[in-house]
Amino acid sequence: MTREQIRDYLEFYRDLGFEAIYTRPGSAAVSAVAEMESIVAAPQVVRPSLPSILATVLPSLAPEGDTLAAIRADIGDCTRCRLSEARHTIVFGSGNDTARLVFVGEGPGADEDEQGLPFIGRAGQLLTQMIDNTASKEGIPISRPDVYICNVVKCRPPENRTPLPDEMETCGQFLFRQLMAIQPKAICALGATAMKALLNTKEGITKSRGRWHKWHDIPVIITYHPSYLLRQYNQQARREAWEDLKTLLHFVYD
Ligand code: URA
Repeated sequence: MTREQIRDYLEFYRDLGFEAIYTRPGSAAVSAVAEMESIVAAPQVVRPSLPSILATVLPSLAPEGDTLAAIRADIGDCTRCRLSEARHTIVFGSGNDTARLVFVGEGPGADEDEQGLPFIGRAGQLLTQMIDNTASKEGIPISRPDVYICNVVKCRPPENRTPLPDEMETCGQFLFRQLMAIQPKAICALGATAMKALLNTKEGITKSRGRWHKWHDIPVIITYHPSYLLRQYNQQARREAWEDLKTLLHFVYD
């Protein structure tokens, strides 16, 4: 890691509100950072290549008077797709049932699968910091519990692979109903899977992010997935994600 990367890294965490980095007794701060780097840069699980169907548009299906409780009850102890085979817990969603803003991620990871709540692992902690700190810096009186957070698929894909199109379609009907029931003022799609699930676009995330799109008349902004931001030493991607969040929070809460 170069000095510049270390500086970027530390600046990133400072932007998130972290004021101290703890080191093991006897170890130098720089080697702690290098250690952090090796954790963050640990080889990622090899994901199966997806078929060339890039856009998965969810089916139109939203019963009148639908509620989150009814949707959760309909999911039941789901075995509709192969993701049920290895999951421990169905991760439905969490937050404010009448939120003005909904964040949509890809699918639960190991921590989420264990505890049944979305975005509680490292990526989730980053998302929480991004929401809370951006809101506080911008003078917007909200924090994570004020928004609603859910995923395209509700069960953890094995080895955290990307959900396959048929899994997204099967589980996507429930995401669709969640969004219809909440009727937020805006949706934030975190990463390419959420973008593909919600928008009929073949554009890449770098092109689509930071701009407004629509899902059933609800404005959608696309930004990088927090896991991507954790992996990237690219300061620009982090700054862009910050800008996206600022735009989104002002749009929803001003
Ligand atoms: N990544 C996601 O997309 N969703 C989660 O809930 C956790 C990590």
